[in-house]
Amino acid sequence: MNSRHILLASALAASSFACTSKTTEGNTPATATAVQAGDSLQQKLDMYTTVRLTADLSTLSENEKKMIPLLIEAGDIMNKLFWYEAYGKSDSLLTALDNEAAKRFVKINYGPWDRLNNNAPFIPGVGPKPEGANFYPQDMTKEEFEKANLPDKTSQYTFLRRDAQGKLITVPYHVQFKDEVTRAADLLRQAASLAEDAGLKKYLTLRAEALLTDNYQPSDLAWMDMKNNRIDVVIGPIETYEDKLFGYKAAHEAYVLVKDMEWSKRLAKYAAFLPELQRGLPVDVKFKKETPGTDSDLNAYDVVFYAGDSNAGSKTIAINLPNDEEVQLKKGTRRLQLKNAMRAKFDKIMEPIADELIVEDQQKHVTFDAFFANTMFHEVAHGLGIKNTINGKGTVREALKEHASALEEGKADILGLYMITQLHEKGEIEGSLEDFYTTFLAGIFRSVRFGAASAHGKANMVRFNFFKDHGAFERDAQTGKYRVNYAKMREAMNKLSEKILTLQGTGDYAGVGRLLDEQGRISPQLQQDLNRLSQANIPVDIVFEQGVDVLSLK
Ligand SMILES: [Zn+2]
Repeated sequence: MNSRHILLASALAASSFACTSKTTEGNTPATATAVQAGDSLQQKLDMYTTVRLTADLSTLSENEKKMIPLLIEAGDIMNKLFWYEAYGKSDSLLTALDNEAAKRFVKINYGPWDRLNNNAPFIPGVGPKPEGANFYPQDMTKEEFEKANLPDKTSQYTFLRRDAQGKLITVPYHVQFKDEVTRAADLLRQAASLAEDAGLKKYLTLRAEALLTDNYQPSDLAWMDMKNNRIDVVIGPIETYEDKLFGYKAAHEAYVLVKDMEWSKRLAKYAAFLPELQRGLPVDVKFKKETPGTDSDLNAYDVVFYAGDSNAGSKTIAINLPNDEEVQLKKGTRRLQLKNAMRAKFDKIMEPIADELIVEDQQKHVTFDAFFANTMFHEVAHGLGIKNTINGKGTVREALKEHASALEEGKADILGLYMITQLHEKGEIEGSLEDFYTTFLAGIFRSVRFGAASAHGKANMVRFNFFKDHGAFERDAQTGKYRVNYAKMREAMNKLSEKILTLQGTGDYAGVGRLLDEQGRISPQLQQDLNRLSQANIPVDIVFEQGVDVLSLK
């Protein structure tokens, strides 16, 4: 969900106040520390490691197994549409390249601009990426757009183009992409005819209709209504990050998903604890009077196909949708934890980072279960805390303006760990606190490699520096490895929670600005340690080998 969609705070159940749907990976990565401008193409390619995207499909019914190839084919059409939105026609660019590494990196980025390096061009002769990608004419100015008398110019689902006289016009997505969406809709209807779950059948049918009309709300409502489906697909124009000019235009993407019933059951019980955990927050009672919603819909999935926006550059490991505020008001949102993608990042990135940066006797405490839990409770923790200031400054979001996201993300991270600590004490969570805490620290190292400029990046650095100042970890000068001090980390966690909740509750814009400015930076020492990760060839992100062959679905 992007910030444009989060204007609803006070009216909404607390649980809907959530983070970006590209949860931990930062939507506007600044220069990733691992990727330097002068790196060769091969070095850039090495920032990504390849993962085969598989899942256990043995428990699916015959019909469900038949649906997956249809959904993947529909999803693959989103690749083509996203290429057009991000760049234009891919063919001419790819055929002009004779270098295999260049071709491969272009495909990872859906264009000649490096997404992990603030969209810097990496093909000689290519200029900077247009702010509005290919959603607007490249010669259009903001002023011309503002003056144009076109009622649907700010629609999420129109392109701006020029007519023969050079005048701005709008072209709806379903017109621009008539052939492609007709084919995709047909595939979704075929899948619907195989669906055994009534909710899924209805959703797929309405989603097919939406692709043909650009009216997505009925299908979003149907998506929130279905609860017992094992197969799921997120498909269509969804996020607006690709439009950096105005943030109006949604880009096409797809995820084909298989719900993990076992893990989902584990997650279901935690929302019920929110009211109790809210009352126990380590902050003055006046900051915890709001009642968190307990209606959150939180499930674990294996992804079997990524396409378009979601497959470009860094890969999403948790989704929070839909973005439509009217649907959110009626139905809340659904949080999807993408388990196999998280597993891949854990194995390929988190473990090697722990080997490099965590002291040897604590490395065993960096575990997948803890990584999964930390990521998941971040999402749930958006529901805790305070949405309205206590001193008449309006909503926290209004009062904190452009700082609101960074602080809200920081809150979710630290209160996620707080929730784990509390639930662990009640005996509701298995595993040792050492695991959650050590993995939490390793997770900060992983995340700040995406840069400290995004909301998540700043939040990570504030937390890292706060922990450091409170002795939550020590760095061994000899080995350059970090040792967690569990008792002090717990104290620091409570203190930071109190600080953030107080800043939010009082709407202290200047105070938050100072905190982000003073603490939201990567120190030279940390930068050196992060550089060691690149030198050890630890990837920053993953790319997928995926599709029906990889799944052995003929
Ligand atoms: Zn978040």
